[in-house]
Amino acid sequence: MTDRVSRTPGVALVVVLSLAAAAAPVVLGQGPETFDLLIRNARIIDGTGAPWFRADVAVRGDTIVAVGRELAGEARQIVDARGQVVSPGFIDLHTHARRGLFEVPTADNYVRQGVTTLFEGPDGSSPLPLAPFLAKIAATRTSVNVGVFVGQGSVRSAVIGDVDRVATAGEIEKMRGLVRQAMHDGAFGLSTGLFYVPGAFTPTAEVAELAKEAGRLGGIHVSHMRDEASKVVESVAETIAIGEQGGLPTQVTHHKIIGKAYWGKSVETLRLVDQARARGVDATVDQYPYTASSTSIQAALFPSWAQDGGRQGLVTRLKDPTTRAKIRGESAALIRDERGGGDPRNIVLANCPWDASLAGKSFADLLRTRGVEPTAEHAADLAMWVVEQGGCQGIFHAISEDDLVRILRHAATMIASDGEVPIFGKAHPHPRSYGTFARVLGVYVREKQVIVLEEAVRKMTSMPAQRVGLQDRGLIRVGMKADLAVWDPATVADRATFEQPHQYAEGFSLVVVNGQVVFDGKAMTPARPGRVLQGPATRR
Ligand SMILES: [Zn+2]
Repeated sequence: MTDRVSRTPGVALVVVLSLAAAAAPVVLGQGPETFDLLIRNARIIDGTGAPWFRADVAVRGDTIVAVGRELAGEARQIVDARGQVVSPGFIDLHTHARRGLFEVPTADNYVRQGVTTLFEGPDGSSPLPLAPFLAKIAATRTSVNVGVFVGQGSVRSAVIGDVDRVATAGEIEKMRGLVRQAMHDGAFGLSTGLFYVPGAFTPTAEVAELAKEAGRLGGIHVSHMRDEASKVVESVAETIAIGEQGGLPTQVTHHKIIGKAYWGKSVETLRLVDQARARGVDATVDQYPYTASSTSIQAALFPSWAQDGGRQGLVTRLKDPTTRAKIRGESAALIRDERGGGDPRNIVLANCPWDASLAGKSFADLLRTRGVEPTAEHAADLAMWVVEQGGCQGIFHAISEDDLVRILRHAATMIASDGEVPIFGKAHPHPRSYGTFARVLGVYVREKQVIVLEEAVRKMTSMPAQRVGLQDRGLIRVGMKADLAVWDPATVADRATFEQPHQYAEGFSLVVVNGQVVFDGKAMTPARPGRVLQGPATRR
């Protein structure tokens, strides 16, 4: 590996000798330029999807000020990136970063895989109102930039609670008001989680009413769909319809096909996306590169009617023997055919706040410990017990590699982690938090050659930036904000596994946010240059 950062103690400026001063360096004016950071000899993958080219990148303040071969000038810090790639920092449109960001404002798990911007408020769930949350992030001083969506579920919950009923016209008007307020506070659009309570109780037309409000103010719609298993095709159609009726860009988030019985349906879902785009509906997709998902045991393994009123509603219903038997039967079916992956082995506890020792144990392990056969029915009993104890986050192995690869290859698919900011070593999170971006580059580009490097980088940079209207990030161009990642395409790799999730990605030697180095290849630096990004309504 090459020398990453050379500093000269006590000398403010290092004179850089250009061997090609006569070769008319690009962009420079007359006289010696001074830069804050100069990255030399890099293979630049600029985020557009164009093939890499060799050049230097110069940064002054928080901005890229020159890109060209053998730039002449002086710089406070010079990095020789020979043999390595310089790309824009990665932009993650789907994170649950409020789980952990305030404890770990450096977001090491993300930065150490090249991520420089996180979006919060996914799956229909966001803090409300947004302004105090954004102020808290700004006061926390994070290493990464943060943007947010407003969650439809949170909005509905605030107005009518987590109940299964149709909203009145007056209530919908109130919800529109909350969406409008959130957009003015800085949201980039509306997220839905129609799989979750109370999104599951929301008719499409009601969602479209809120989507219109977000769209009118320049926002997009991003959806964790109503169903990712038996009704995944209908759910993609609904996501497209919300975009069409709401008059705004729409995105299927963490697209996957859950349950063996439905594997292969990505052929149909992607065809729907293509057809929508062909008729002028701006529909796109994002994805994480793993064949297991993660959410709460309650949301994954119980029907939505049983969750009316949230966890308390479910716990109360379980007290009635007849209802309990009905719930048990439906839960066992979800374990057999859908998110349970057909086998209690495929359900693993990630985090139980009331018993840390359960993290990492599978349902099959736990049933055997209790001396019970690991059947779907017994797994349903265990799921009910988990919810009664207080609920846990789970990991569910129920996705096929073929669907994953097909979705990754699609031109309208970008990369997003669906991760969080783990406290290192604590609980048993899904490895996507530590490895999503590195895994695409290491496994799906280098090893499996599913897509080429430049295309992968496009899916992590300019594409998500364009999606949310970030005009000044996601590309290596003069005038863009200096969010940069330097990494080695030969060694870049995710290390986090389902068994050992707390492992940082490898192959990254420098990560820069707003012109400041936040990771030097060995450790996080003290710099905390992250900013709260302002959505489209604040710019109008
Ligand atoms: Zn989700």
